[in-house]
Amino acid sequence: QEHMIGTPLLARWNSTEATLQKDVSENHNKGFKGHDMLAPFTAGWQTNDLHPLVIEKSEGSYVYDTNGKKYLDALAGLWCTALGGNEPRLVAAATKQLNTLPFYHSFWNRTTKPSLDLAKELLETFTATKMAKVFFTNSGSEANDTQVKLIWYYNNALGRPNKKKFIARAKSYHGSTLIAASLSGLPALHQNFDLPAPFVLHTDCPHYWRYRLPDETEEEFSTRLADNLENLILKEGPETIAAFIAEPLMGAGGVIPPPATYFEKIQAIVRKYDILFIADEVICAFGRLGTLFGCDKYNIKPDLVSIAKALSSGYMPIGAVLVSPEVSDVIYSQSNKLGSFSHGFTYSGHPVSCAVALETLKIYKESNIVEQVKSISPRFQNGIKAYSDSPIIGEIRGTGLILGTEFTDNKSPNDLFPTEWGIGAYFGAECEKNGMLVRVAGDNIMMSPPFIMTPDEVDKLISIYGKALKATEERVK
Ligand code: PLP
Repeated sequence: QEHMIGTPLLARWNSTEATLQKDVSENHNKGFKGHDMLAPFTAGWQTNDLHPLVIEKSEGSYVYDTNGKKYLDALAGLWCTALGGNEPRLVAAATKQLNTLPFYHSFWNRTTKPSLDLAKELLETFTATKMAKVFFTNSGSEANDTQVKLIWYYNNALGRPNKKKFIARAKSYHGSTLIAASLSGLPALHQNFDLPAPFVLHTDCPHYWRYRLPDETEEEFSTRLADNLENLILKEGPETIAAFIAEPLMGAGGVIPPPATYFEKIQAIVRKYDILFIADEVICAFGRLGTLFGCDKYNIKPDLVSIAKALSSGYMPIGAVLVSPEVSDVIYSQSNKLGSFSHGFTYSGHPVSCAVALETLKIYKESNIVEQVKSISPRFQNGIKAYSDSPIIGEIRGTGLILGTEFTDNKSPNDLFPTEWGIGAYFGAECEKNGMLVRVAGDNIMMSPPFIMTPDEVDKLISIYGKALKATEERVK
């Protein structure tokens, strides 16, 4: 199928006037540098330096920009504001804590009650395997960096100085600090940052639609990926591989649910070679997939877990690592010898973040948030998947309250649209024009709306998606 396109669609998320690249370079030539932030994941010709979208206020499932324009927040901030934009109980919890004890740390056997209470609550909440300890961080990236240090420390304690490599997967996202970016399997996170670090290896992305062989079933695909993992372990030497890290469902890499039998087979390989399993639940945890954790949904029995984001509904920065009794026992015995476990952040277990997270977990429990997600998600999934027949959509995939759309030609994973057409960016710009914010990454669109979405809001989301799709189809004729 041949397509024509009038003007190359140089991407501009909030404008269909496709002159930004020229605009930016001309302004840069004149010495105009835009605003003063070196903004995360922004600088470059796609930058919105010149006219950033400035969000000023949030309310339920909506956010408002400084011009008062209202947007349905279909990504829940950055996959995090599960309880929406103005949950008064979280504001009250933060205020109360700020008025009592705005800060105290958790170093040297000093700590605060909210951090102790939250650790206890998290150990009771996570039930896929028994966890013994919680280490607090400020973010998902710090949680994953901490995982690597914990596991190195653990293997040093066990007298296994060579068991230090990590296996992650292509297209995974584990954060952007040095180690988390290394674990991530996205080329943009590595290019020009001298990453990944040499102790990180990547194995296959489990995307059945894109990577299956002709006539291969999902189960056969999973078997092949498990075999590839085993071959990689054997090639490197099992005595050198410390851990395997995986998101239960891949988020930022394009919303990729695991194929049938994948985790069963992968876990068997990992266990066979005494390799620890880290579940990166930063996006999946607390109900997003219609189960409390991604591990519950896919029957994953991890040794360590990373969480963040919905832990505080995004209201305060907080992340955490859950550690199994086997791993924490070894860490304790080693730190007994050394006198301390020398890792931590000033804000590990920040009392305000912990107080907000405690209240968040209480709300999830009281409102039966998993049931809420389960009741609303068929409407969301079926409504969007009804657009699967669109000639510009290759695949729509997801579960619970998370969905990815990939634009390709001829329904084929191999017939990509030319990058300069900016199909994904155009779709994103149309959503924005119609009052909805989604995540655009190339020709992948991602959505992970707040858990508190009403049926009417879901219908509105579906209708804006439909309008944006129609406009995008019309550009590709
Ligand atoms: N892990 C996963 C699965 C994520 O999706 C993210 C962020 O999107 C991170 C880790 C990094 O979290 P943060 O941005 O809080 O450092």
